Order: sequence, then structure tokens, then C-alpha cells
Amino acid sequence: MMDSPVCDGSVPKRSSRKSVGVRNYNENLMDELIEKHIGSTPRKRNKTMKDMEKETEIEAMIALSVGFPIDELLEEEIKAGVVSELGGKEQNDYIVVRNHILAKWRDNVRMWLSKGEIRETVSNEYAKLINSAYDFLLSNGYINFGVSPSIISHIPESTLGSVIIVGSGLAGLAAARQLLSFGFKVVVLEGRKRPGGRVYTEKMGQKGKFAAVDLGGSVITGVHANPLGVLSRQLSIPLHKVRDKCPLYKSDGAPIDAAIDSKVEVIFNKLLDKATESRKIMGGSANDISLGSALETFRQLYSVIQSTEERQLLDWHLANLEYANAGCLSDLSLAYWDQDDPYEMGGDHCFLAGGNWILIKALCEKVPIYYGKTVHSIKYGNAGVEVFSGDQVFRADMVLCTVPLGVLKKRTIRFEPELPKRKLDAIDRLGFGLLNKVAMVFPHVFWGEDLDTFGYLNRDTHRRGEFFLFYSYHTVSGGPVLIALVAGEAAYTFESTDPAIILHRVLSILRGIFNPKGIDVPNPIQAICTKWGSDPLCHGSYSHVRVGSSGSDYDILAESVGRLFFAGEATNRQYPATMHGAFLSGVREASRIMRATSSWQNDPAKCTLKNAGPSNELLIDLFRKPDLAFGNFSFLFDSPQEDPKAMGIMRVTFGKSKSEFSGNDNFEQEVDDSHQSLKLPLPLYTMLSRAQAHEIQLMAGEDESRLNFLYRHFGLKLTGPSGLGSLGNSLTVRITSARRGQGKHRSVVGQLKAV
Ligand SMILES: Cc1cc2nc3c(=O)[nH]c(=O)nc-3n(C[C@H](O)[C@H](O)[C@H](O)COP(=O)(O)OP(=O)(O)OC[C@H]3O[C@@H](n4cnc5c(N)ncnc54)[C@H](O)[C@@H]3O)c2cc1C
Repeated sequence: MMDSPVCDGSVPKRSSRKSVGVRNYNENLMDELIEKHIGSTPRKRNKTMKDMEKETEIEAMIALSVGFPIDELLEEEIKAGVVSELGGKEQNDYIVVRNHILAKWRDNVRMWLSKGEIRETVSNEYAKLINSAYDFLLSNGYINFGVSPSIISHIPESTLGSVIIVGSGLAGLAAARQLLSFGFKVVVLEGRKRPGGRVYTEKMGQKGKFAAVDLGGSVITGVHANPLGVLSRQLSIPLHKVRDKCPLYKSDGAPIDAAIDSKVEVIFNKLLDKATESRKIMGGSANDISLGSALETFRQLYSVIQSTEERQLLDWHLANLEYANAGCLSDLSLAYWDQDDPYEMGGDHCFLAGGNWILIKALCEKVPIYYGKTVHSIKYGNAGVEVFSGDQVFRADMVLCTVPLGVLKKRTIRFEPELPKRKLDAIDRLGFGLLNKVAMVFPHVFWGEDLDTFGYLNRDTHRRGEFFLFYSYHTVSGGPVLIALVAGEAAYTFESTDPAIILHRVLSILRGIFNPKGIDVPNPIQAICTKWGSDPLCHGSYSHVRVGSSGSDYDILAESVGRLFFAGEATNRQYPATMHGAFLSGVREASRIMRATSSWQNDPAKCTLKNAGPSNELLIDLFRKPDLAFGNFSFLFDSPQEDPKAMGIMRVTFGKSKSEFSGNDNFEQEVDDSHQSLKLPLPLYTMLSRAQAHEIQLMAGEDESRLNFLYRHFGLKLTGPSGLGSLGNSLTVRITSARRGQGKHRSVVGQLKAV
């Protein structure tokens, strides 16, 4: 039985068959080093010089795998002023100390590493360098990040400022965790009814025998320095290495001849080499040419592919490339499609036992997330930010937008002021492609326990990406699960095809492959077709460098605009289109927000975070003539018209008898505390929209139930005048000046009417 298609879904990234591109370190060596180091005994004090040198070398390799150059500082380290002089002995010592701290935390990522522990293993003469290296690594999320209890317990009081995060994918959640650990107040607004975004594990199969199936991001591509590898170690979740064996089958189900298989693989890699060489010769003009057209030109030029079988096999490799990039080859930039290859994570590609949902669940712990809040506009300015979802408005000091590039391309979120042109252009230039999956749960594993992947060659070139690769998840999902990938052009037509037809096609392919071997292919118990392209909260799968674009567009997408910050896979130039790239972008932005906050706080001209709200006298004066009043509630609005989105200030006056409000503890706490410390009657305030005010007005019941509604439904809290902050201040200024100008305004309208 096929379920109705869902709007969330799909497969692993790069297949184990091919690895295009280069690495910037020796991966085998890294395997050895990391294995030796992780779980090794702690540093002993009585070591020979040789031991120390070896250890320093290993630590340097670990730092390299996390992205630190061997003999230099990162640009961020230079900016952070980690040493007093560049290039000298102090810098060398710093690098050794920094690498040691990094390696020490990677040794046991479950524990919070303190400065004290570092001091136990590094001589006192380096105390200053320990401080600067430790502070840099901590504030930039290189150590002590993640989800283990020892790390989560280090959440200080929120004192630094408030941040609204739009989107609870890996980027949003990673940022939220980091910001909380720095001491920020955080709220996440998520359009869906669940967290995780493009990481989504569906429970499939039958009651009592459910399998956990990743319909979105699935494969941890390179586990060594991967932050998701760190999370899985913290949670003690086993990883399953995706095995290299990947037999290919022809369109009639027969296996591919091994000699032709390796011949075409060599040709495919040569064509890629030729394309790479040609872009060097072409220079800037390669920016306007697609990888697809270059490969096709060289194929024709060298007449290398002759038989139908060879052509279908080459098409298979091309489909695999389209899968890795979530883009048709005709869209990928010849010049920059592989610009992130040098940063590819080392180590095996792995599946996580039980699905990636486990990571999402752990990341959500203690993070306040409001679900079903699709944001439609974001206002940002010197005084703070306002984020609108439906008729609700959320205010904070800063906002971090982590929505997918597909959403930014559709312009479904209105930014006020509009985003800078250079960012809008980069949003338009970068590509956002499509990958879909058919996930199937069968009664048993009929394809062979020893296989994680097998491929299928399509007859037609334009359908080369349709079910070209099957992933088996029986080792990790808890059931006999197969996933068929749909990449390239085929991924687009797939979304408008009847799921029953899709399932019929997949099953005929599987029967074509396995029936001749005497294996019966049963009907699946359940099947799901993903539709990432039609999903309004992503409009596609992941980003790629399109013709006319380049890696620097990722950097432009990452640029902040005042109090508006950006994260998400498409803001990560080194690791785009991946789960770890999304995670790392969130960590990056948390540090950026922290730096921005301290620079604002040190610069009184820009510091509005701690701005006092409107004066008590001004409010008392304005509320003498409220725009709306009922019970103990009165309201002032920004605009005299009946605009439901107009912002306003609400005042509740607590009378002579002590009011007691049931409901949320915080709310009770806040109101009761105020009662104790101040003489009644007590006016308290909050900001809300006119539509919200009307909703409260229309509610049946007493003031008490209205206040509960205010808190529970709108998430609004009552404060004194100063709690309204700078936004309240500017609102009262606008209301005051609008009232002053009202007479004049009316007469102008009158004159126009008379004419
Ligand atoms: C089919 C598929 C297969 C993949 N396979 C792999 C893989 O094997 N390995 C790998 O590393 N990566 C893979 N990826 C990529 C990886 O999943 C993504 O790069 C990563 O999950 C993106 O995380 P993010 O936080 O940037 O964005 P998202 O996860 O998309 O998070 C953004 C969040 O914002 C929310 N949102 C959007 N608009 C609004 C709005 N207006 N208001 C409020 N909320 C909003 C969304 O609902 C979402 O929750 C795959 C992706 C897909 C789709």
C-alpha cells in the first residue's frame, strides 16, 4: 500500500561509489591517528621528548581535520587577537596549546572541558595562552558543544540579550543551543508542527515493528571532524559505515559486465578531469558554462562512449553527480560546482542507528520552540527586531533567519527594510536543486544482508536519475527498508506523478533485478514518496553552485545586516548542502551574535540593547485617552486607522484586591512579585497588535482568563514601562507624534473630499 505523498522526505548524499575531488590531508593517516588518539590514556607527565613531539604532531593533525591550518592562525583567531604579535614564538606556542585543548576535548566529547583541566597538562608559563586559546575555542563552538548532560548543564542565566531564531532545522537548533550556553534568551519560531526541517525520520511499517526511516538528510558524509559524529558519540549512538560494495544492474535487470563497469568509470573520471582542465584555460568564461555542456562536449570530441550499455552506464555516473549536487548538470557551474571539495570531511560515510531524529530530539532539549509559526515578515532596525507570524508579533534584540534558500528565493518572507541588493542577487544566483526518495518497508530483506547500496541503469537519458540508486537501511532502521533515489530532471517530474504509478515502476525494476536470481520480490507493507520541491517550507532539497554563481555567494548569504543574522546550509561556503554544514553555520552565527552584542555594548552610540522603555509619566498621559478600553484593559495604537497589524501598547491595571491568576508559573510569578513590591493599583504593560487586542476583547470570561489567554496563546508577558524596552519607546514616540498631527491630518482628508 502506498501512502499519500508527504511533503517531507528523502536520502543520503554522496554515494560510496565515487569520490570526485581532492582532500587536503592524508585520510588514511588521519584514520590511524584519530583511532589511536581517541580513547587513548591521558597525557602523562613523565614523557620523553620524542613522545611529546609525536603527541604534538597528532594534535596538529586533529586540529587540521577540524579546519585549522598547520602553521598558521585562522583569520578569526587573528581578528580575536589571540596573540599579541603575529608570526613569532608566541604564535607557535599558541598553536601548540590550542591544538592540545582541541584534541583533549575530542578525546572525551561527553565532558565539559574546563580551563583547570588544561592547566593540569600544560605548564604554568603558558597560562595566558591557555586563556586566549580556550576562550577562542569555546566562544567559536570548537569545544564543549553538543548534547551530553555535562554540556547542557552549563547554561547560565540569560543576561546577554534576546534572539529570535526562525527555523528549527539543524542550523537553528545548533545556534539555539550555543546561544543558550552563552547566556542569551532564545525563542525558536518554526513553521512546521515538528523540529528538524530537512532532517526528518518517519516511523514506517506496522505497529510493534516500526522502522525509523530518514526521508531527508540521512548519511553523515565523513565522520572524522564531523560535529554530528561528536553528537552521536555524546549520545552513544552506534554508526554504521556505508559499505563500498554497490553492484549495478542494467535496465533488463542483468548485472553489468565488470570490465565495462570499470572502463566507463575511468572514462567518466577522465571527462571530469578534462572539464577541470578546460576551466583553467577558459578563465572567467567558465562561469557562464554548465558542467553538463562541458562533459557532453568532451564526450563527443573524444567519441569515448559507443555502445548503448556504455551510454547508460555513463548516464548512471552523471545521475550520481546530480544526486550529490541536487542539481541538473545543465545548471551546475563548470567553474565552481566543486568549490567545496577541498573541505570534504574525512572518514567513513555513515548511517546513524535509529535515524537522525535522535540528534534532533537531543538538540531540542531545553530549547523553547513555538511550532506552527510560519514567519511572514521580519522588521529589523537599530532598536531591535520584530518578527511576525500570522497576527502575532515577537520582539527581541536580534533575529537569526535559518530558512532554506528555496524559501528566500520565493520571497515569502518580507524583510523591512528590504535586504541589500547584493544579498538578493546572491539569493537569485545560487542554485537550489531537488532530490526525492521512495521509501519502502518490505516484509523481509530480499536484496541481501551484505548490501547497503545497489544501482539501476535507466534506458532514457532524461530519466537517468529515476531510481538510479537504492539504499538499504536494514542495518540501522530496525526493519527491512529500501529507499530508491530520484535525482536530476526526474526529481521534478516525479512530484507530479501518481504515487501508484511510481510504486509500480519501482517494483518492476526490483523484480527485473531479483526474479531472474530466483528471488521473489514481495509488495511493500508501506511506501512513501517525498515531495521536497512542493514543500512550502523549503521548495527544494539543497543548494548548489549554479551557472553564473560562485562560492562567494554562500559568504554573501551568510552576511548579517545589522541585527538580522543568517544561518543554514546555503550560508556555508565550505560545507554547503549537508547536515554538518547546517549545524556548523548555526554555531558560527551564535558566535557572531555574541561578538556583535559585545561590540554594541562597548559602543554606547550603538548600544540599544539595554535601552530603557518609555517614561512612566508619558504612558500615564497617553493612557488618559485610550484608543480602546474594557474591564481593566486599555490600549493605544500606532495607527488611527483600523489596520489589524498596527502595533499598540496594552495596559492592565490591577485593582485594590490582590488578583491571583492561575496558569503559567512564570506569569504568576511576575505578577505576584510586582504586587508584593509595589503599592496598588499597579499598571503593567505589554505590546501587541490591534488584531490581538480585538481577540482579547471578544473573549468571553473575566480579566483573569483574558490574561491567561494573553500569555498562553500569544506568549506575551506584562512588564513595567522599562520592560517595553527600546521598541516600546519608539512606539510611544510614534503614537505621541501621530496624536499631535491628528487635527491637521483630518483637515487634509476633508479638503480632498471637498474637491
Ligand atoms: C532529500 C534530502 C536528502 C539529503 N541527504 C543528505 C545526506 O545524506 N547527508 C547530508 O549531510 N545532508 C543531506 N541533505 C541536506 C541536509 O538535510 C540539509 O542541508 C540540512 O538538513 C539543512 O538544515 P538547515 O537548518 O539549513 O535547513 P532546514 O532543515 O530546512 O531548516 C529550516 C527550518 O526553517 C523552517 N521554515 C522555513 N520557512 C519558515 C518560515 N517562513 N517561518 C518559520 N519557519 C520556517 C523549516 O520548516 C525548517 O524547519 C539532504 C536533504 C534532502 C532534502
